[in-house]
Amino acid sequence: MAREPVYQGPENDTSDDGIPGSVNSDGGDPGKDSQDSPADSMGSSPLDEEYDYTLRPQSFKDVVGQKKVMERLSIILQAAQKRKEPLGHILFDGPPGLGKTTLATVLPKEMGTEFQYTSAPSLSAPKDLLPFLTNASYGSVLFIDEIHRLPPIVEEFIYPAMEDYRIDIVLGEGVNARTVNMKLKPFTIIGATTRPGMLTAPLRDRFVNRERLDFYEVDELAEIVRRNAKKLNTVISEEASFELASRSRGTPRKSNNLLLWTRDYAEMRTKDGIIGLEIAQQALRMREVDDMGLENLDRRYLKTLISIFAGGPAGIQAIAHSMNLPPDTLEDEVEPFLLRMGLLQRTPRGRIVTSSALEQLGMSISGDNQPIN
Ligand code: ADP
Repeated sequence: MAREPVYQGPENDTSDDGIPGSVNSDGGDPGKDSQDSPADSMGSSPLDEEYDYTLRPQSFKDVVGQKKVMERLSIILQAAQKRKEPLGHILFDGPPGLGKTTLATVLPKEMGTEFQYTSAPSLSAPKDLLPFLTNASYGSVLFIDEIHRLPPIVEEFIYPAMEDYRIDIVLGEGVNARTVNMKLKPFTIIGATTRPGMLTAPLRDRFVNRERLDFYEVDELAEIVRRNAKKLNTVISEEASFELASRSRGTPRKSNNLLLWTRDYAEMRTKDGIIGLEIAQQALRMREVDDMGLENLDRRYLKTLISIFAGGPAGIQAIAHSMNLPPDTLEDEVEPFLLRMGLLQRTPRGRIVTSSALEQLGMSISGDNQPIN
């Protein structure tokens, strides 16, 4: 089963230039942010995407944090290797930037098997998925990002592939139509989603293993910052790595982006390019990241809720409409962190701002609220 790993993306990918789209042939990096994402939200420009591959862990030992998840993955990995069988299908869920793609790419590397990447929005019909399924070699991994967006027709097509490693292809039309059954090589689907609740029960149940990735602790993020600074040949002090970590919203991708920005800042504003605490603080101030890690979009969300909806309760559709943004972006990329930090409450009647949020922004419900920028 062991073989030279091959990394494949969809035919029309843009992997040669390192721009988002797929995993490229030398193990490059899949694109991450959906087109819904505002540029400053999870913040990855094409340049950041290039670095993303450099910084992405390449093996289990490079993965920081998610201890319990990693322990369980090690067990299923070793058991599969012992039995010389493919891994059972795995579903990763959690907010963007927490390592779903990273874990999906590391697993086949540990197994020495092939990896293919695709994303559900690019699979509008079974024929789009067919090449991935027929190319899947024994024990290989097919990663489907944003799997909650699979159209029902593709979802139904995938069921027999997941369960019995076969697909049913309909040839011809009308009375001449016939179904041809095609066998596939046993393989593993790894699905990633930011919205597990949007998966249908039949699809969810076909994933033998389900893992939820949670936000990281500050010391874990500081470790990621230190390791990545080394990969980038950048010198960073202990205090500065903690400063970046504590303003990273519990999210490794955010830590990476803040590190890249701070490195640029240090290179332009200091003689030696070393990132000390003061330089890190200056860089973060210029980037408008506050002491809690809140960015413009987070502040805009809270200010909208406070100023327009008198602190709530307000429905997500109404808030999104006022901000002129898709509700998905707010639900996936803004709210999870605000909820975790106790700045926002979700109630059956809608979203409500908390007193901690008012304190953080220096605002009150009635009276002298600042204008929304
Ligand atoms: P997701 O697929 O959940 O959106 P990614 O796997 O793309 O997140 O992670 C974004 C980046 O964060 C990766 O390129 C990697 O550099 C970093 N990262 C994520 N998880 C970890 C981890 N556990 N240890 C170290 N770095 C990580």
